[in-house]
Amino acid sequence: MIIRDCREYDAEKIRTIIREGLEELGVKPFGRTLVKPNLVAAGPLFPYAYTRPEFGEGVLQALRDVGGTSITELAAGERCGITVPTRVAMRESGWDTMLEKIDVKRYCFEEEQQVEIPINHEGRLRDYLFTPEPVARADFFVNCPKFKAHPWTTVTFSLKAYIGIQDDRHRLIDHDHKLNEKIADLQHIVQPQFIAIDAITAGEGRMLTPLPFPLGLIIMGNSQVAFDSVCCSIIGVDPMTVDHIRLASEHGFGSTDLAGIKVTGDVTLEEARKRADGFKVGLIRVEKYFEGTNITAYAGPPPDSEAGDYCWGGCPGAIEEAIEILRVFDKDTDRKMPRMHVVFGKYAGAIPAKPGEKVVFIGDCADWKGDLHGKLVKIENVYKDRSTLDPHTIKGEDIFAKLASAQGKMNKDVIRLEGCPVSVAEQVLALVNISDGVKNPYLDRENMVTFGRAYLGWKTRVALNRLQRKRYQQNGAYAHRGAAAPELGGSS
Ligand code: SF4
Repeated sequence: MIIRDCREYDAEKIRTIIREGLEELGVKPFGRTLVKPNLVAAGPLFPYAYTRPEFGEGVLQALRDVGGTSITELAAGERCGITVPTRVAMRESGWDTMLEKIDVKRYCFEEEQQVEIPINHEGRLRDYLFTPEPVARADFFVNCPKFKAHPWTTVTFSLKAYIGIQDDRHRLIDHDHKLNEKIADLQHIVQPQFIAIDAITAGEGRMLTPLPFPLGLIIMGNSQVAFDSVCCSIIGVDPMTVDHIRLASEHGFGSTDLAGIKVTGDVTLEEARKRADGFKVGLIRVEKYFEGTNITAYAGPPPDSEAGDYCWGGCPGAIEEAIEILRVFDKDTDRKMPRMHVVFGKYAGAIPAKPGEKVVFIGDCADWKGDLHGKLVKIENVYKDRSTLDPHTIKGEDIFAKLASAQGKMNKDVIRLEGCPVSVAEQVLALVNISDGVKNPYLDRENMVTFGRAYLGWKTRVALNRLQRKRYQQNGAYAHRGAAAPELGGSS
C-alpha cells in the first residue's frame, strides 16, 4: 500500500504519482486494460460523490506510460446508480470530455453484453453472477473508487465499488439485507491488479450527496481487503466491523491485519489519520435518520428465515438516499413533505398516524397488523425467497414505466410499495407524488433532454446487442475464465 500527498486535482501531478505507484508495486498493464471509476451519481449536483475526471486522466495516462505497447485496449467503464443512464453520468462528470481528449474508449456497462460467471465458493448466495463483457474480459483491471462514507455499509472504498460492475437488474438482486454478502461474492468475478482511490477531496457522511472532506491523499495498492483495511484505519474504523470487508477477507481476498500490510509513501499512516480526524461515516438507521422531519420511520426485521434485525442493504437505506436526492433538486423538500409514516420489515409496534397522514409500507417483507385511521389494517409479507429469483430472466427497472405507474398509486391513505428492494429511484418517485409539489428530478427541465437522449441511446445500443449475440456465440469469444456465452440482449 502506498499513501501519497496530493492536495489538488492536477492531472499531470496525479499521473506522476500513479506512475511511481505502479512502478513501486511492480505492476505493468497489458492487454485489455480497464479502469472502473465510481460515478454512482455525478456532475455539479453531486460534486463530491464521484471519482473526478482529472484523477481518471492521471490514472489512465500513467497506465499508458507504464504499459506502453503491451496495452491492446485502454478503456474506462462504469454502471452509475439510481437508474440514470451511465451516458449521463459520463457526460455530467466530465469523464466523456476527458476520455475523448486522451483517446480512451468508454464503456457504459448496462449497454454491453452481460456474461455469466460461475462461482463455487462455500456460502455463496448464487452459483453464478452476471457482469458486463468488458469486465469479464479485462486482462488488467484497475479499480478507481472515491473515498466516501456510506449510509448502509459504513464506507465505500474499493470492495463496495464492485456494485458498479453489474447492470441494474443484476445489481438489484440480493441488494437487501444480504448486500454485504453480495459484495463479497462479486469479488470472485475479478480482482484488480491495481487500485487507486480519489481521496484528494473525500466524501463524508453520505454516499450520493456527501460533504467535502479535504484529505489531500492518493492511496494505491493491489489487494482489495488490505486496501480497504488501510482506508478504514485512516478514518478510525475497525475493518472487521465492516461486514463486506470482513467477509471478503474470509473469502481469501486479503488480510485486515495492519501488522501484515506494508505501507509506504510520503505520508505515514499516522499523518493520514491526523488528516482524517473527525471524518464521519454514514451508518444510520432509518428511524434516527428522519428524526425531526415530517417523516416518521419504523423498521422491523427483514424476513424471519434470514439473519439480522435490520435490512442494511435495501429499502430503509434507499429512502435515505431518495430524500437526499430530492433535497439536491428542491431546497424546500422537507417543508413540502406532509406528515407521513414509512414502515419497513416486520414491525410490531403501533403507528400513531392522525387522520389524513399517509402510511407507506415499503418492501415485499413489510408485515404489520393494527389500527390505522379507525380501521383494522393487515399488511402481508410477500417476500419471495432469493432462491426463486433467476438472474437469467429478471427484468430491469424502466424509469419511464415507473414514472407512469407511480402517479396515481399514491392517493390512498395506506400505501403498499412492493419490491425487494424498492429502489432509490422508485422511492424518489413515491415521495414526489406524496409531497406537496417537490420537484421531480426525473422530469427536471434542465436535465430532461439530456436524460431522454441518453436513455434512447442506451436502449438502441441494447437492441443492437441482441443482433450481435449470435455472432459472439459463433466465434467462441467467451471461453475465457470459464464464463458462459453472453445472455440475450445485454442489459434491459
Ligand atoms: S423488501 Fe426491502 S426491507 Fe425487505 S428484505 Fe427486501 S430490501 Fe430488505
